[in-house]
Amino acid sequence: MSKYDVIIVGGGLGGLETALVLSKEGMNVCVLEKCRQAGGMLQSFMRDGKIMDSAIHYVGSMDKDEALDRYFRYFGITGEIDAVRLDQDCYDNILIEDSRYSFPMGLDNFEEYLKSKFPSERRVIPLFCKYVREAGMLSDLENLKNGLFNMDYMDYYTVSASDIIRNNIKDPGLFDALWGTSLLYAGIEKVTPFYIHAITLYSNLKGAYRFRGGTKSITDALIRRIEENGGTVMMGMEVTRILAGNEGIKGVETADGSYFESGSVISDIHPVETFRILDKTAKLKPSFISRITSEDNTYGLFCLYLTMKPGSFRYINQNFFIRRGNNRVNYVLLSMQPPANMGEYAEVVTIVTPVPYSAFERWDGTCVGKRGNDYLDYKESISEEILNFVSYDFPDIKRAVDKKFTATPLTFRDYTKTPQGSAYGIQKNCNKPYSTFIAGRTKLPGLYLTGQNINVHGVLGVTITSLLTCADLLGSDYVINKIKEKA
Ligand SMILES: Cc1cc2nc3c(=O)[nH]c(=O)nc-3n(C[C@H](O)[C@H](O)[C@H](O)COP(=O)(O)OP(=O)(O)OC[C@H]3O[C@@H](n4cnc5c(N)ncnc54)[C@H](O)[C@@H]3O)c2cc1C
Repeated sequence: MSKYDVIIVGGGLGGLETALVLSKEGMNVCVLEKCRQAGGMLQSFMRDGKIMDSAIHYVGSMDKDEALDRYFRYFGITGEIDAVRLDQDCYDNILIEDSRYSFPMGLDNFEEYLKSKFPSERRVIPLFCKYVREAGMLSDLENLKNGLFNMDYMDYYTVSASDIIRNNIKDPGLFDALWGTSLLYAGIEKVTPFYIHAITLYSNLKGAYRFRGGTKSITDALIRRIEENGGTVMMGMEVTRILAGNEGIKGVETADGSYFESGSVISDIHPVETFRILDKTAKLKPSFISRITSEDNTYGLFCLYLTMKPGSFRYINQNFFIRRGNNRVNYVLLSMQPPANMGEYAEVVTIVTPVPYSAFERWDGTCVGKRGNDYLDYKESISEEILNFVSYDFPDIKRAVDKKFTATPLTFRDYTKTPQGSAYGIQKNCNKPYSTFIAGRTKLPGLYLTGQNINVHGVLGVTITSLLTCADLLGSDYVINKIKEKA
């Protein structure tokens, strides 16, 4: 039996970051990750000699001294990841039917671009950009001390992104352009809070980057730092029970029968899973558990990973959000990984499209690699439809494809245990912000929550959430000062 100050359930980004911060502060931490590779959705895999990222396409706020840059510097991982800045003049292309918008980086540039494209909206665009700036800045270091919600900006949590845009803007083309990247947060009109839209947009305007060599490099660097600080990261260890009494947390058990003792557990896994494996305790009301475990989840994504024939498809340092028509595939994000060989041609292209879980429900009881030929055929049919869809804008793509690989919501469900393979976890809802933004500290002494389900998803969102969870253990001023010292 081993005894730790804190046990972290799940070695996704949220779990590793909390472990790193706490181990830096002298705590004896242990991360237990069920997969053979840590990182959760940051996992990379090798196919056809190429490193492929299972999920992350790009992240924001990575310019010097912006939020994620500061957080990564505090973690001490900046020197070990190869971050490639997307094109200044256009990092995102939004192709909607036959209209095309090219978002430049920098909030002022973005504002000027929108004004030039939509002159009739010149007066309201600055107001919209002001809202984006205010809400986006909630991701900055200083806001950590306000906890989950900054009461001065409560409207940004309680009004939907679609309402804030529509109430200010008349031109439907401008709405389409602004809503064009909603796949990044699985946006739903009248539901997704403005805060989520703004933090995503603002962070990308503050430095959008891709990673050369795979997002696994982030995971590996985080693990190295944790281990240097004396922490432990164990892979292939599925936590099957969190032991608790009315006085608090006692430890965890893993699938192989091991017992790990600790008075504190941070769970980086979906709340449905956390409360499934947590012992019953009078400290947590059944109404709290049933509320938190019955929230809707964001939609899942079908991912098509393409290896490209050498020298056949030019690398573009920009993303493409394409929305067209009403067929099954009508909205995709096409993105390319920076070539490992530093060349001009793309080695890996990834295309993702939203898919309803109902389309995969018939394979609900199956597991990875054993879902049958009808599943393979179904995946092939969607892949072909995606390729036909993007061929309108990329006529050469089909000829350039060497091999195709795919992941569905079932893949994500089975690897990360996210219910129905939801891409970003619990759907944040402006109509009930207090139940869909979940506090990191629970009423059960020693039980803390972190990860994308708790606050905001994505690399930046999960990082902020990790720091908020650590602030619950260490104090927010302490955490903020430590980051300031380093970055
Ligand atoms: C297709 C796709 C594309 C995305 N693209 C981007 C992007 O471009 N940019 C961006 O910023 N974000 C993107 N995201 C979102 C981002 O990947 C996630 O928000 C983030 O990685 C979530 O981290 P996490 O630690 O909260 O959860 P996870 O990554 O899900 O980590 C949870 C970990 O817990 C482990 N686990 C589960 N149950 C147990 C158990 N019982 N015992 C032990 N371990 C357990 C899992 O194996 C997993 O490793 C994307 C997501 C998807 C699905």
